[in-house]
Amino acid sequence: MVRRELDPVMAGARIDRVEVRRPDLRAPFPRRFRARLEGRTVRRLDRRAKYLLAELSSGETLVMHLGMSGSFRVAAAGDAGTPRDRHDHVVFHLSSGASVVFNDPRRFGIMELLPPGRLANHATLRRLGPEPLSHEFDGYALAQACARRKTSLKVALLDQRVVSGLGNIYVSEALHVAGLSPRRRASTIATPSGTPRPAALRLAAAIKQVLEEAIARAAGEAYRSSRFRVYDREGARCRRRGCPGIIERRTQAGRSTFSCRACQK
Ligand SMILES: [Zn+2]
Repeated sequence: MVRRELDPVMAGARIDRVEVRRPDLRAPFPRRFRARLEGRTVRRLDRRAKYLLAELSSGETLVMHLGMSGSFRVAAAGDAGTPRDRHDHVVFHLSSGASVVFNDPRRFGIMELLPPGRLANHATLRRLGPEPLSHEFDGYALAQACARRKTSLKVALLDQRVVSGLGNIYVSEALHVAGLSPRRRASTIATPSGTPRPAALRLAAAIKQVLEEAIARAAGEAYRSSRFRVYDREGARCRRRGCPGIIERRTQAGRSTFSCRACQK
């Protein structure tokens, strides 16, 4: 959702000046970072999982990752009312007069500059599975990716090679919508050759549904449905109509999983 906020501000704008207020984030900034950005126009802004990709008029791509605590905020043209925070590490001043501020208290964020043609070989991006809301992602793609996985469904859905950028909350939510146990073996939603069983179709649809609901919520269109189904609801009643179950929390691969034992099989 970050891309949706930044796109109107950054796409098509020239980066006039860059303030870099420390030598590094998680890693040092790229060499000649400011010089390679200043005077360039942002041709387009894309998102891949949790990476934002700004394609520059120089042919290079600015790759940004928010890490655990990073965020962007936009200061409109003429907006003097943006107090500096000590965690404001990078400020992009744009030709429109607006500026984009990157704030990251824990400094786990990443900014990289990739020369032309390098994007396809980027170590992390290359291995990413399809975006969950894209047309490439459906029950067939999900079944293919899960066919021979011996891990649980929960762990498989957190794997960026299966589907990118889903995140712990929405994995729990989607599994509940689909009525599938997080502990179920991933391969059980497909035949050995990777053809989807009904569970795979249900799960792919559930993933899209929970993400679309989250987007609608963020846009303020669905205030009443803002509560999670299972996430962070340990000990509470299951919200599925007619289900007598209680939400339980377990730890899988070091992450909390919330589910209803009664209706998720
Ligand atoms: Zn239930």
